[in-house]
Amino acid sequence: MDIARQLYQLQEVDLEIESDEKTLNGVVVRLGDNRVILEAQGRLASAEQQLDELRRRQRTAEQETEDLVVKLTTVEGQLYSGRIQNPKELAALQHEVELFKVKRSRLDDGVLVIMDEVERVESDVAAATTALQKLEAAWNQEQQALTAEAAKLRSKLTDLKQKRQSLSAGIDTPVVGVYDKLRKQKGQAVARVEQGICRGCRISLPSSDLQQVRSGNLVHCSSCGRIMFLP
Ligand SMILES: [Zn+2]
Repeated sequence: MDIARQLYQLQEVDLEIESDEKTLNGVVVRLGDNRVILEAQGRLASAEQQLDELRRRQRTAEQETEDLVVKLTTVEGQLYSGRIQNPKELAALQHEVELFKVKRSRLDDGVLVIMDEVERVESDVAAATTALQKLEAAWNQEQQALTAEAAKLRSKLTDLKQKRQSLSAGIDTPVVGVYDKLRKQKGQAVARVEQGICRGCRISLPSSDLQQVRSGNLVHCSSCGRIMFLP
């Protein structure tokens, strides 16, 4: 086999290795990246915290109402006991009862507002829980797929590197050196010649160079320097 063909095959393996390594890096970055789960957990925790706080406020308000009812019952008991005859004292007690009733009505309104809020935040918590469960299920599935893909790519890369080794072992070391240097400089060291044109830089080859390529000699494009390969 002519040297240009061997180098072209080497380049095809190298380009595949390069592309697979890039894909593998992308897969590795996504493996274990659970930011989306952490964010969903954060949203749930925040809704739960809000709910706890509301329930605490609800209990406090309910306790205040209970205390007030006890006081109101006591004052009403005094008022209607018949033991107090003094009109001034009676009027004062009556006034106290009215004040307690107003206060109680305010407290009841407050409890209702809190209960509405509790209901709203309870549904937030339920929605955040469902969203988190869905995300976790999708994430686990994705991670499994990524793990499998990474394993497949690693195994393929091992094979490709072995193939590269045996290909380059069949080529003179200095020629591989020239190839490697060109690969580093230009990305592609070997360019196909199609219809007398270098596909690396799209410049026509002088007929003498073309003749050399046809004879299986190692020719560099006089314009871009790449190794010419006639398929
Ligand atoms: Zn060229």
